[in-house]
Amino acid sequence: MLLRRISRAARRLPFFLLLVTAAPFILEAIIHVWRSQVPRPARDLDAPFFTTCQEPDVAAERENAVLVMLARNSERQKAKRTVRSIEAHFNQWFEYPILFLNDEPWDARFIAELNKTAGGRGIFEVIPKNQWTFPDWLDQDSAKKSIEAQGHAGAPHAGKEGYHHMCRFYSGKFYQLEALSKYKWYWRLEPDVDFTCAITYDPFVQMAKHKKVYGYTIALWEVGKSCPGLFHATTAWKSLKGIPSSSLWSAMMEASWMPFPFRSFLSWLPHRDAAGDVWSLCHFWSNFEIADMDFFRSRAYQDYFEYLDKKGGFYQERWGDAAVHSLAIGMLADPQQVHHFEDIGYRHAKFYQCPANALDGQLPDSPSLVKNKPWSPESAGGIGCRCECDGKTGRNFQSYCLDRLKQPSSPKKGWFS
Ligand code: GDP
Ligand code: MN
Repeated sequence: MLLRRISRAARRLPFFLLLVTAAPFILEAIIHVWRSQVPRPARDLDAPFFTTCQEPDVAAERENAVLVMLARNSERQKAKRTVRSIEAHFNQWFEYPILFLNDEPWDARFIAELNKTAGGRGIFEVIPKNQWTFPDWLDQDSAKKSIEAQGHAGAPHAGKEGYHHMCRFYSGKFYQLEALSKYKWYWRLEPDVDFTCAITYDPFVQMAKHKKVYGYTIALWEVGKSCPGLFHATTAWKSLKGIPSSSLWSAMMEASWMPFPFRSFLSWLPHRDAAGDVWSLCHFWSNFEIADMDFFRSRAYQDYFEYLDKKGGFYQERWGDAAVHSLAIGMLADPQQVHHFEDIGYRHAKFYQCPANALDGQLPDSPSLVKNKPWSPESAGGIGCRCECDGKTGRNFQSYCLDRLKQPSSPKKGWFS
């Protein structure tokens, strides 16, 4: 009897020893993941500026701001679509200038037609060559070969040299443009965009009032193969500068369940930091941006951009400006300085945000809004103003990663109705 018991215990011994040995590692992993959680604040730290239509205050003081669109001459029709839309939904009341940028001289036809669509407030500039090219220290032949290879590997646009220049430009050089130097705020536009709700307040004024530096509509996952080295370079710079992780940064990360010290062995994999935790690839989609250029002109941001530029990843890989901006915001901005414009209806490519219309908040008799109709049905909890898109499809598309990025700034769960 005793012998049988001893032999049974002996059989269980390896399992018991394994459990005892593994327990501290499992506990460590649990603590690591638990510590990386972003606590939800007790109140909504990033409420919409308005949740109903406003009577546009056309007499109010404007901010020092400009709408900006980079485009090619060949995108004339698509550019017109965007400008027509922003004018009808916003700029007919607030009359900000629209700066058009191109790396090539503008066609006379583009200028004439777009200036007309922009109500005569168009400004047309050509980007100086030295702000739209390979950095001088980079081996151009090797960069061009890499771009060709990236094209074959299939990351979106990665085979186009111009696209790499564009990403580098928007990541850093844009903020040094002479044509922008007199402005503080910009609203980025792209050809082929639809605005689908009336924006009856001035977002620049509200951003300034609420001390925001960066506003977005849609957050998406970056295509991993376009930027395998970006996160390594970013975290190397972050450590070099001793930048602590904010709640927004943590919300961009997924803590590894691998226990220490094995976790750090993962660090050589793409999109991982030195501890082995992984960037979720979630980022603000930068074709819509309303932002304070002082943030991007700051020494810290420009130093980050220069550091990335020296790594060559804008050409050896296809580092995108959206990811670069987002990671910088995650490192250098206070999470409360980021604003989700969830009340702005927006579509670009197949991605969209469509707010539901505010119940009884549509100012049906407003003479200013007389052209902004018809609008789709109103519903309780809606925040949109005269949105033409179908609000039933939800505030944002279900599979976007938006919710992750909102965690530090909002207590709400389930953004997708
Ligand atoms: P996606 O939105 O990332 O799929 O890329 P797009 O083709 O829309 O390009 C993003 C922005 O950069 C748009 O405003 C384009 O007009 C602009 N863009 C991209 N490549 C070039 C280029 O070679 N020259 C100019 N002038 N604009 C470009
Ligand atoms: Mn685009």
